[in-house]
Amino acid sequence: MSDDALGNMLAQMENAEPYADVDAGVFERLKHPERTLKVSLPVERDDGTVEIFEGFRCQFDSARGPFKGGIRYHPTVSMDEVTALAGWMTWKTALVDLPYGGAKGGVACNPKELSDCETEKLTRRYTEGVRRMIGPDMDVPAPDMNTGAREMAWMMDTYSMYGGRVIPDVVTGKPIEVGGTAGRVEATGRGVTITTRRMFEYLGEDLDGATVAVQGFGNVGSVTARLLSSMGANVVAVSDVSGGVHDADGLDVMAIERHVSETGSIAGYTDADGYDDADAITNGDLLRLDVDALIPAAIENVITEDVAEDLRASVVVEAANGPTTFAADGILRERDIPVVPDILANAGGVIVSYLEWVQNSQQYSWDLEQVNDDLETKLARAFDEMLDAYTARDTPDLRTAAYVVALERVGKAHEMRGLFP
Ligand code: NAD
Repeated sequence: MSDDALGNMLAQMENAEPYADVDAGVFERLKHPERTLKVSLPVERDDGTVEIFEGFRCQFDSARGPFKGGIRYHPTVSMDEVTALAGWMTWKTALVDLPYGGAKGGVACNPKELSDCETEKLTRRYTEGVRRMIGPDMDVPAPDMNTGAREMAWMMDTYSMYGGRVIPDVVTGKPIEVGGTAGRVEATGRGVTITTRRMFEYLGEDLDGATVAVQGFGNVGSVTARLLSSMGANVVAVSDVSGGVHDADGLDVMAIERHVSETGSIAGYTDADGYDDADAITNGDLLRLDVDALIPAAIENVITEDVAEDLRASVVVEAANGPTTFAADGILRERDIPVVPDILANAGGVIVSYLEWVQNSQQYSWDLEQVNDDLETKLARAFDEMLDAYTARDTPDLRTAAYVVALERVGKAHEMRGLFP
């Protein structure tokens, strides 16, 4: 499914090039990652057998600062997938104007088949595999799909053991107890909520009572659904890899969160006592619901051409990375369905990661209010800059406008630094 994520990312860049003021030679450089490492990771399973996993780290561009990007554990992880995701991180950090470049890493595995002990061994071995290329001033990993604070604590501990001292700022998204920041767990979902609200304001629509469907009920999807619901939106459908639930009158998001934390998935929620009004729905049908906002928050390439033809939402907010294929994007543009692009909509995570990194380097911690205020300020500014480019450059859609801002920032940094040697 994600094999063409790289093609998607490159096509998005080329689509924006005619609207962006970037030197042709520099643009060519921007299409190629600086380096990608592939590592073989032997891990002893609980039954005594040894399995070799493949891990990757792609460092896409560092013209504007140290590399930054998450670590993904998923069966589809590949060299191409991490390269696409590292490219998106580069454009994301530039768009929200953080002093970072872009990177991404991952391990091809099925985390559901790994025990906690095996996951810890895999994480520590992966950290050893990439430790020569990461570091607080070089490349700072963070959580992504199927990784979280627990894995970041193991990565930080492993890296610190090799360094002979505690080095918290080698990763972000850590537990609070070992240098994490207030607000990081909710940051990406909170950012999706902020950009959704601003998009509704821009369109002159009211978020209060608006119907919303969210695909993916992990870290990003569940927080997005909960916060939108608390702001008065009517979350009518949510799903995960097992399928989804739908209730036109609105779902009880907190009850679904409880069900997922108890059972591990949304499956079975409709049968649970007291929720008879919620019906099962497939992921395909969820994407085609007649709602005010559709929020894909799971994996890449779920909005295909077929889905785009049938899509009935008034606006799409991309919480996941790369959920819309390049061809589907063209169809949505023709159908006048606006898309808030991933590199803006889900940038809340990296913004708060940056705030965590700054706090670590100052050995000082901020309270939640300060973190959330800074997140909102940075996202709002980026949203306005995207809208300015949309108007001033007359770009065909918001994604192209977002790329114009990002490509020009990264391009300018390359021009000023020059070409070594
Ligand atoms: P997660 O692992 O916490 O949750 C992923 C969710 O997607 C789960 O509910 C899973 O069941 C569901 N899912 C997986 N495959 C699916 C499929 N084929 N159909 C429907 N649902 C499916 O991951 P997350 O951290 O919430 O990340 C979700 C997306 O957001 C990813 O694209 C990730 O790159 C992006 N993102 C995450 C962060 C972050 O801070 N975690 C930041 C920026 C972007």
